[in-house]
Amino acid sequence: MLKMIKFFQNIPEILAVMSEREDGSMKLFKDSDLNLENRKRFFEKIGIGENKIIAAEIVHGIKVEIVNNSSPNFILEADGLITRDKNIFLSATMADCIPVYLYESEKKIIGVIHCGWRGIVSGIIGNAIKETLSIGGKTENLKIALGPGINSCHFEIKDDVLDRFGSYPEFVIRREGKIFVDLKGIIKEQMVDLGIDYKNIENNEECTMEDDRYFSFRRDKPKVTEAMVAVIGLK
Ligand SMILES: [Zn+2]
Repeated sequence: MLKMIKFFQNIPEILAVMSEREDGSMKLFKDSDLNLENRKRFFEKIGIGENKIIAAEIVHGIKVEIVNNSSPNFILEADGLITRDKNIFLSATMADCIPVYLYESEKKIIGVIHCGWRGIVSGIIGNAIKETLSIGGKTENLKIALGPGINSCHFEIKDDVLDRFGSYPEFVIRREGKIFVDLKGIIKEQMVDLGIDYKNIENNEECTMEDDRYFSFRRDKPKVTEAMVAVIGLK
């Protein structure tokens, strides 16, 4: 049986999936072959030739790049990718950070975004939406899926970064002398503020830190980053 985590299951033209720990680490490095075999095996499992994958490097920045059929397979400096081309699949890796899948159902624009706390408070969601609109998308046609990430039960911050969340007091939770943040709450608020219909946002509620089906950077503290891959494409 082919077991995998899927999103947008009511939209047949979209393939939007995420790997699990048992698939192995999917983290892509610009100067190493590490994990290329894992990636190849996973892409075969989901029925995609690896030459059709375009991967974002993931640098905890806010750059979302529009790519096309002739783009290179590895987009340096990017944390998000958007395309309106068919026959290519977009990928990003994460382990606790939140995978955001995007689909503009009229123009058939797809996107995947790696959302860590730095990117979220620095505006990566706004960038992704802006890029989508720049190639003809409309917010009312946007469907969003948030994959498994670290939830407010486990995403603890220290005082030193508290002021970075100053615009989002309702998503900062104080509990037993500790401070936690609801990152998905912030993402959803940003999206609604940008005009996305709340009912078009689906959410996988699993927490990567408490479920060992997933790699978790905070739980595992690996020397070399281990990560899942999020993939989206039009079938
Ligand atoms: Zn948790």
